[in-house]
Amino acid sequence: MASITLNNIVKKYDDGFPAVNNVSLDIADGEFVILVGPSGCGKSTLLRMIVGLEDITSGELQIDGTRMNEAAPKDRNLAMVFQNYALYPHLTVYENIAFPLRLAKKSSGSNGDSTEGANGGSNGGSRGRSPGGAGGGSVDDRVRKAAEMLELTEHLERKPANLSGGQRQRVAMGRAIVRQADAFLFDEPLSNLDAKLRGQMRAEIAQLQRRLGVTSVYVTHDQTEAMTLGDRVAVLKKGELQQVASPRELYEQPVNLFVAGFIGSPSMNFLPATLKEGSEGAGGAGGSGGAVLSSPIGDIPISAEKAAVAKGHELLMIGLRPEFFEDAQLVDEAKKGKGAVFTAELSHLEWLGHEQYGYIEFEPDEKVRRLLSDLAAEMDADELRPQVVTTLSAESRVRPGQPTELWVDTSRIHIFDPESGENLT
Ligand code: ATP
Repeated sequence: MASITLNNIVKKYDDGFPAVNNVSLDIADGEFVILVGPSGCGKSTLLRMIVGLEDITSGELQIDGTRMNEAAPKDRNLAMVFQNYALYPHLTVYENIAFPLRLAKKSSGSNGDSTEGANGGSNGGSRGRSPGGAGGGSVDDRVRKAAEMLELTEHLERKPANLSGGQRQRVAMGRAIVRQADAFLFDEPLSNLDAKLRGQMRAEIAQLQRRLGVTSVYVTHDQTEAMTLGDRVAVLKKGELQQVASPRELYEQPVNLFVAGFIGSPSMNFLPATLKEGSEGAGGAGGSGGAVLSSPIGDIPISAEKAAVAKGHELLMIGLRPEFFEDAQLVDEAKKGKGAVFTAELSHLEWLGHEQYGYIEFEPDEKVRRLLSDLAAEMDADELRPQVVTTLSAESRVRPGQPTELWVDTSRIHIFDPESGENLT
């Protein structure tokens, strides 16, 4: 296994526009890093530069501390797992898994069932160590060990057409395992699967990666995959790295509006607001000494600490996750004190069984409309509706179309500078 280091990596295609712009990232030996971002943000390009399918315009790629910019793909000893699995339909599962070993043997001209050449090239072999238990031994041994690990033993004689999507996915991973690659690179491997299978495979990949302890880089545009799979998540926007952090940190401390809006489902609500100091704010709670954020859904009391960061900004963008809200009737007194109660009218409710989404709509003035449209552009979204989504407990009996007391956890409120997008809290 190996560490992968990216130093100021830039990729410009023929049009000269940087598809990847100055990306620096250290991926530790054995780490599972997810590259996530909307379509066109450069994540596949970045992965393809690591594996050697795309030239690096400038910057340096190191694998285990050695510069690899110019190394041929076969000399990098990295295994790529693609979206379409790239399985050979005419070969059995066994032959598909064995394929990289046989190919390597042919190209290196070695005979017999040894491990020689299994890394696909001379250079990689020096670094190649066994990820997990699949290494060493004959081709047959290695294929069978990988099949066992992936619970494919009973399917070894089948052809890909007779496998489920999940099984095909495992065969693709089997190929990466037998190669004893130093790292696995996944390019949206689950995007062809239905939602249920995607969930299952996500869990399988996460477990397998942990068991093998092999350095892995995984590209996806799906924030749920990003949050559930990786040790760390790197969020990209328009070729630029926005934040690299653990899923929890990304969720709790997004550095800017883009990351805040991209991570979390349903998405964080953004509301334009202005700071009002010294007033007796709505709800009265929040321990603020009177500071409130005046927003289209009402005045939200905030702590003196949050008021201090908001100070000096004429206009702010505040961020409230749907789960910061609750039906005030269901909040106990101790918890109530951490936030504020305000009255709103829900336009509609969606009952999901385990929870319900309540929507508060507001009428934006021209300035707010413009802000939301700028923000949508920033987020790469079509539009941001003038509404707030709240996640309420399933047992709540609130009704749409009536004044309703909602509680909001003001201690977790995010305050952004709408100009720079920076999270000030
Ligand atoms: P997706 O999720 O849609 O695959 P991505 O984040 O993986 O998107 P890339 O495929 O890396 O994005 O593309 C990044 C940018 O580079 C895009 O603007 C894309 O149009 C451009 N691009 C990608 N490949 C080429 C190419 N071969 N020639 C020119 N431009 C390219």
